[in-house]
Amino acid sequence: MVDLQAVLDSIYKELTPRIGEGKVADYIPELAKIDPNQFGMTISTVDGKVYSVGDAAVPFSIQSISKVFMLTLALGKVGESLWKRVGREPSGSAFNSIVQLEHEGGIPRNPFINAGAIAVTDVVMAGHAPREAIGELLRFVRYLADDESVTIDEKVARSETQTGYRNFALANFMRAYKNIDHPVEHVLGVYFHQCALSMTCEQLARAGLFLAARGSNPVTGHSVVSPKRARRINAMMLMCGHYDGSGDFAYHVGLPGKSGVGGGIFAVAPGVASIAVWSPGLNKVGNSQLGAVALEMLAARTGWSIFGD
Ligand code: GLU
Repeated sequence: MVDLQAVLDSIYKELTPRIGEGKVADYIPELAKIDPNQFGMTISTVDGKVYSVGDAAVPFSIQSISKVFMLTLALGKVGESLWKRVGREPSGSAFNSIVQLEHEGGIPRNPFINAGAIAVTDVVMAGHAPREAIGELLRFVRYLADDESVTIDEKVARSETQTGYRNFALANFMRAYKNIDHPVEHVLGVYFHQCALSMTCEQLARAGLFLAARGSNPVTGHSVVSPKRARRINAMMLMCGHYDGSGDFAYHVGLPGKSGVGGGIFAVAPGVASIAVWSPGLNKVGNSQLGAVALEMLAARTGWSIFGD
């Protein structure tokens, strides 16, 4: 058995001179203020062990990683009929692209690009006031993480509400195609709050552990989804979790994963562990630059790639 703490320590040591690489997301003013010189990583294994390094206990904006939790909620509510509202194919375009949406009649390619996530949020809102939908998500994530201290950073949510012009464009566009049922400002109010969830690597790894363990969290004993659904959510992350960098991530890392512009990446080694890494500097396609490198090192040193060691 590989000594996972030693693996994390060696990754941290090797990457320390590079901490600060990449460019923090500046299109959301509140995220532009984040100090890029931070790096944290946590591995949570299905047999209940936790290994951490660096700034693993510092909360950060999970941004698009929240789309995994919203997708889980939406599938729980409407099951497979969700796929009438959103596709399951990699997009091959930027996370906030509008071009493809017009081409495909207002049905986003997948639930992890912004348009798809906004449609998923609209599904979760059915029968709820926006505030209730936000509350439902927060309760769900706290339950998954087994931690009541998970919060939403209102400043980040407000900052994005004030500047999220592209997301307003995407949502209005889908509403015109009748793929959004609720008022656009309500849907985006919920969407911006979900993106503003603030979590540490330790909380995030624990919250997502059910995806590494056939749908149930072996630490908390919480049953979340069926093994089949966990497998399918992992499949979506593998194909679509890194926007236009998904192929590259599969090539270098070989694990299902989801990135966010806050610099976090959540990844799953099925049957073995969940991993959260955070380093705010992003690469050109909007994924954490050092986070991806760290996961590549981890996969190489553990043999965890789903494509074989
Ligand atoms: N809240 C961000 C947006 O909608 C999420 C993007 C991301 O994390 O990739 O632009």
